[in-house]
Amino acid sequence: MLYVDNLINSFGDFRAVNGANLTVEEGEIVAVIGPNGAGKTTLFNLITGHLKPDSGRISFKGEEIGGLPPYTICRKGIARSFQLLNIFQRMTVFENVQVAVLSQHNRSMNIFRPARNMMIEETNHILESVGLLDKADEISGSLSHGDQKILEIAIALGNEPDFLILDEPTAGMSPEETNATMRLVKRLTSEQGLTLLFCEHDIDIVFSAADRIMVMQLGETIVEGTPQEVRENEQVQKAYIGGESCLK
Ligand code: ADP
Ligand code: MG
Repeated sequence: MLYVDNLINSFGDFRAVNGANLTVEEGEIVAVIGPNGAGKTTLFNLITGHLKPDSGRISFKGEEIGGLPPYTICRKGIARSFQLLNIFQRMTVFENVQVAVLSQHNRSMNIFRPARNMMIEETNHILESVGLLDKADEISGSLSHGDQKILEIAIALGNEPDFLILDEPTAGMSPEETNATMRLVKRLTSEQGLTLLFCEHDIDIVFSAADRIMVMQLGETIVEGTPQEVRENEQVQKAYIGGESCLK
C-alpha cells in the first residue's frame, strides 16, 4: 500500500532523513522506532506532504505522492495525528470531529443548512468508536491529556482514511492510558479495515502492537522486519537498544 524508497530530506546542511525505506502492506500495523531525533516525525511529514523530499520515492497505492500537497494526499486516504496536540482547544469535542467530517464532505454542503446540524450521526459514530461520546459536549481543552490524544485520533478518522498515521499516539500518557490507547488503536484498525503506521520510542509498546517494525537511526533505516527479526538484529541491539536488557 505504501512504499518508501531511499528517501532523503535536509534542513539546510543537515540530513534529518537520510535513506529511509519502508513497506506497508494493506491491513498491517507497522511501527517506526528510533531514538529522539532519528527522523521519525520528519519521515511522516514527508509521507503526508507537510515536507517535500529532496530525493527518493514515496508511492501510495501504486502512485507517486512525494511532494504533493497535504490536502491532496489526505484525499487519497492518508490521515494522521501529530506528536504535539493539534486540536481546536476552545471547541467542543463534538465540533472538533465534526469539522473533520465536514471537510471530507464539502461537495455535498447545502448553503441553506447551518453546518452545526450536519454530519451529526457520522460524528457521533466516530466519537462512540473511540469512547468519547459521553464527553461530546465538553470543551476540548478541558479534557485530560490522554483524552485529547484520543480526540486527535477521532479527528483523523473524520477524514475517512484507509491509511492512518499516528505520531507517538501515547506520548505523555500513563502506563494504563498507554495500554488502553494501544488496545483502542488495534481494535479500530481491525474493525474499520485500516492500515496503520505509527512511531514510538518505547520498544515494549512497539513489540506488543506491530506486525512489522522499521528501525531508524540518524535518519536512516537500519532494519525492517518482524518483531522477531528486529529483536534478533545485532545492529539494533548494539546501536539503538544499548545492550540486551531491553529485549528480554
Ligand atoms: P524524531 O521524530 O525521530 O524524534 P524528528 O524527525 O523530529 O525526529 O527530527 C529529526 C532531526 O531533524 C532532529 O535532529 C531535529 O532536530 C531535526 N529537525 C526536525 N525538524 C526540523 C526543522 N524544521 N528544522 C531543522 N531541523 C529540524
Ligand atoms: Mg517525533
